[in-house]
Amino acid sequence: MAAIDGLPPLRDVIARHGLDAKKALGQNFLLDLNLTQKIARTAGPLEGVTVFEVGPGPGGLTRAILSLGAAKVIAVERDARCLPALAEIADHYPGRIEVIEGDALKTDFEALAATVDGPVRIIANLPYNVGTQLLINWLLPRAWPPFWQSLTLMFQREVGLRIVAEADDDHYGRLGVLCGWRTEARMAFDVPPQAFTPPPKVTSSVVHLTPIAEPMAARAETLERITAAAFGQRRKMLRQSLKPLGGETLLAKVGIDPQRRAETLSVEEFVALANAL
Ligand code: SAM
Repeated sequence: MAAIDGLPPLRDVIARHGLDAKKALGQNFLLDLNLTQKIARTAGPLEGVTVFEVGPGPGGLTRAILSLGAAKVIAVERDARCLPALAEIADHYPGRIEVIEGDALKTDFEALAATVDGPVRIIANLPYNVGTQLLINWLLPRAWPPFWQSLTLMFQREVGLRIVAEADDDHYGRLGVLCGWRTEARMAFDVPPQAFTPPPKVTSSVVHLTPIAEPMAARAETLERITAAAFGQRRKMLRQSLKPLGGETLLAKVGIDPQRRAETLSVEEFVALANAL
C-alpha cells in the first residue's frame, strides 16, 4: 500500500535499501508519516521556507516537510547508505531536495543559509550523540539574529527538559541558561520509544525554539565560564563554586547573595555576572 504522499511505505524503503539501523550513528527511524507530519507542523508554516534537516535517514521527516509545502529541504546525512532512498524522494519532488553527504558537526550552516533566498527553519530528529553540540552551534552563530527562524528538534526527553528549564527547576543548568539567553524555548510533545525503529531506551521530546531578537548583551564564552563553574558544583553556595572567578567580590559587584546556589539564579543574573567578570 502506498503512503499518503504516493511514495512507498518507509518500512519497504528500509528493507529494499538494506538500511539496518546503526547504533553508532544514533539511528532510530520514524516510520509513521502522521507523526513526522506532527513534528514538521510544530515548526510553523513552511510555504516558501527552506528547511535544513540533519540526518534524514530513510526520509520520513523529509517527506513530511515536503508534503507540508516547504520550498526546499537541504539535508545533511552522514550515512551514504541512505542516499539512494533520498534520491527516490528527490525524483518525487523535483528540485526541492538537496542532500549533502557529510558530518553535520563540520557543516557551516550559516554559510549555507547565505546561499538561500527566503527564510530558513531547522527541523531534525537528531542523532543523540551529536544533538546537544549541534544545538549549541546553532545558538552561537557568527551573527545575530541568527540565520534560522526556528529550531524544531527531537532530543531525549531528559535533554529536552534541560533546554526549556528555568531557575529553580531541577533540570536547569548550562544548557537552560544558554537557551534562555538567546531563545524562547518550549516543549512541544513527547514521543514514546515504540514510535521508533528500533526503539531507543528512553522517551524522546520535540522542542521548539525561536530566537529572541535582541538578547541581553554578553560574551558567550564568559557566560559559559560562569555557568560551568556555578553548575559544576551546583549543590554548593555560589561564594564557593565561583571562588576561582572572584567569588564573593564578583557576587558583590552585581548584588547577588553569596549564599545562593546556581539553580536559583535567573538568566539575567548570570548575564550580569558574566558582564562583571
Ligand atoms: N530523520 C530520520 C527519521 O526521523 O527517521 C532519521 C533520524 S536518526 C535519529 C538520526 C540520523 O542522523 C541518521 O540517519 C544518522 O545516519 C544521521 N547522522 C548521525 N550522525 C550524523 C552526523 N554527524 N551528521 C549528519 N547526520 C548524522
